[in-house]
Amino acid sequence: MAAPSRILVIEDETAIADTLVYALRTEGFAPEWCATGREGLAAVRAEAAGFVLVILDVGLPDMSGFDLCRELRASTAVPILFLTARNSEIDRVVGLELGADDYVTKPFSPREVTARVRAILRRTNAVTINSNEAQRAGLVLDKEAKSASFRGRKLELTRYEFRLLAVLMARPGRVYSRDELMTQAWEDPGASMDRTVDAHIKTLRAKVRVVAPDEDIIQTHRGEGYSVRITP
Ligand code: CA
Repeated sequence: MAAPSRILVIEDETAIADTLVYALRTEGFAPEWCATGREGLAAVRAEAAGFVLVILDVGLPDMSGFDLCRELRASTAVPILFLTARNSEIDRVVGLELGADDYVTKPFSPREVTARVRAILRRTNAVTINSNEAQRAGLVLDKEAKSASFRGRKLELTRYEFRLLAVLMARPGRVYSRDELMTQAWEDPGASMDRTVDAHIKTLRAKVRVVAPDEDIIQTHRGEGYSVRITP
């Protein structure tokens, strides 16, 4: 069993935060709560954090959720779900290119929020790139452009090579089984077979080796699956 996915709730209203934390925990997530923007930012930036998603209230006591979103976007690709209180806020969420993944309007039902969370995670293949760790090692994924580079050189990846790399990079060192990779990287996992994963891993590995012949960032674990090893 994989460890529960960690979700950060940044919300200053205790009652709302409590409700969300409870609902997320019930759904099998590992939620954490910050009441201010500054705490939230620090929590996301903490290297070991590894949040798969951030739920962000627009109206925070110390800074606006919009500004915080911009700050987060500058350093991480973590999906962001906005909590908005007013119509004017919704207009800004929708109208501005803040890089938020979705929003819900208060008052909301906890079930609605967890459903959105699941939808976002499905959409992003539950992938959150641990940008600090990977970038130190020179491995950079651009999720928007669907491109990757390693040690400053562009990797020309196919769609599934990119997705596999993104899934593996979400948790460097963690071994992903072929089933898990299939489920997270393919739109229609049922239509593919185990050796499809193997074939794409093989070509992905070859492309990384062209850039860095001495490094094998993709590790094979016999009978178990694959992991990515990042050495700074
Ligand atoms: Ca608030």
